Amino acid sequence: MKRKYLDYAATTPTHPDVVTAMMPFFSEAFGNPSSIYSYGQEARTEVIAARASVASLIGAQEEEIVFTSGGTEADNAAIKGVVFARDRGSSHIITTAIEHHAVLESCTFLQRQGIKVTVLPVDGQGIVNPDDVRKAITPDTVLVSVMHANNEVGSIQPIAEIGRIAREAGVSFHTDAVQTVGHVPVSVDELGVDLLSMSAHKLYGPKGVGALYVRRGTKLSPLIHGGGQERNRRAGTENVPGIVGFGKATELAVVEGAPEAERLTQLRNTLIGGLLDRISDARLNGHPTSRLPNNVNMSFDFVEGESLLLHLDMEGICASTGSACSSGSLEPSHVLLALGLSHQLAHGSLRFSLGKWTMHEDIDRVLEVLPGIVTRLRAMSPLGGTPGGSGNE
Ligand SMILES: *Cc1c(COP(=O)(O)O)cnc(C)c1O
Repeated sequence: MKRKYLDYAATTPTHPDVVTAMMPFFSEAFGNPSSIYSYGQEARTEVIAARASVASLIGAQEEEIVFTSGGTEADNAAIKGVVFARDRGSSHIITTAIEHHAVLESCTFLQRQGIKVTVLPVDGQGIVNPDDVRKAITPDTVLVSVMHANNEVGSIQPIAEIGRIAREAGVSFHTDAVQTVGHVPVSVDELGVDLLSMSAHKLYGPKGVGALYVRRGTKLSPLIHGGGQERNRRAGTENVPGIVGFGKATELAVVEGAPEAERLTQLRNTLIGGLLDRISDARLNGHPTSRLPNNVNMSFDFVEGESLLLHLDMEGICASTGSACSSGSLEPSHVLLALGLSHQLAHGSLRFSLGKWTMHEDIDRVLEVLPGIVTRLRAMSPLGGTPGGSGNE
């Protein structure tokens, strides 16, 4: 049975061209970019080229790109970096209830150090109200952090509007764009952001490498101290193969990103429409249109998402209940709860995230098997479901 991978939001397969680009940097071109001899120079040249590719994808300058170990480090570096750069005890950060754990846990950590944190709510479709950001800003506010698109429900936030508000107030603005870079157009100037997080393995690059965009003039303390790499903003010998792979992935995204987004939007809509037609008491989570091209997140009454996943897995279909980080835990998704879902519905949720190797037949297969799985599980459900359902709410 050919496996159908529908969890691209958790991680993407590395593109074969990316693997090819990386290979020499494990062997003949193994040098340290800081070394003077030619091995090192070769690595150095390619790191420079990769930096240019990454910068160009988001409309940044090369010197504004700091390579990191991934999205998590970029989020940590942005949030802690801005706060540590101000040595005022009374700093205040504004973020939202649907952020990735890398952002939320960084804020919680700072809160324990005495930093004030405001966590803004979202509406029922997972969208932040820019007016709430405006109202939350105080003279102590040093940073606003709002993600570009949510990894669980796919809602795309009004970042440009929030960017204008932050700029007017003279507050640094960070966005976690791990789910959007390479998939939808991202321009740091149009979005009005000062800091932006990226991760290679969400755009067909390798795991363990990412970047933080830092707008020129943004005050930021480094998270990692040591040698002077990355213009003193992130010490440590560069992950040369990873950086080269990230560069190649961004190069490919320039060509393939837009047509892929269009293709995936159609597949996404087919899957959403098909599931709503075939399964009673089903609902789409997140915004119907301000949404990632590849994200489908649905809740089904009277079933457990984990059981659905296991049955889909037996059919060779890989999906998710939300974020990979919280699966395996019994806590319902903080994102779905923030959208106002009951614990029961939040537990009955599934995320399908599509990508480059998702074909129409994969969508057809899900539409073929999932309704039967839901019906069977509802028939056995202790949650009081009425098999066949009682119509849509
Ligand atoms: C995957 C993800 C991260 C973490 O990135 P890593 O490179 O896996 O550390 C952060 N934010 C969002 C929105 C993500 O989807």
